[in-house]
Amino acid sequence: MTESLHIVCPHCHTTNRVQAAQLTSQPDCGGCHQPLFPGAPLALDAASFAKHVQRNHIPVLVDFWAPWCGPCRQMAPAFAQAARTLEPQVRLAKLDTEAHPQLAAPYNIRSIPTMVLFQGGREVARISGALGAADIERWVRSVL
Ligand code: ZN
Repeated sequence: MTESLHIVCPHCHTTNRVQAAQLTSQPDCGGCHQPLFPGAPLALDAASFAKHVQRNHIPVLVDFWAPWCGPCRQMAPAFAQAARTLEPQVRLAKLDTEAHPQLAAPYNIRSIPTMVLFQGGREVARISGALGAADIERWVRSVL
């Protein structure tokens, strides 16, 4: 009995089926053959946002940020570090709210950085303000 999970490739955005037991064995994408879990956040855009948020069977943590926001830029290394420890249990992604305001609008983001945790396409939790890597990880694990 093994459970198969849908994992959206961060490179080519193909939906892969991965056995739950294989998640930690560094699976490659069946489409582009790159690692499904590169240990880094991916940048979402109009073509990939819905695929990752809705099709992934693992939770997706999205950092809503903008290039002009100092605290967002300060948090970027911490968010990248958190990706290394939270993958493959959680997918970490970033949305540039300046480049893609239409994608951020439905979520009513009032201040940035705001991190929103999605599961099955639904928002399950959010937190605003810059956090360190350990605090990001702790918060995600506390709300999952
Ligand atoms: Zn791929």
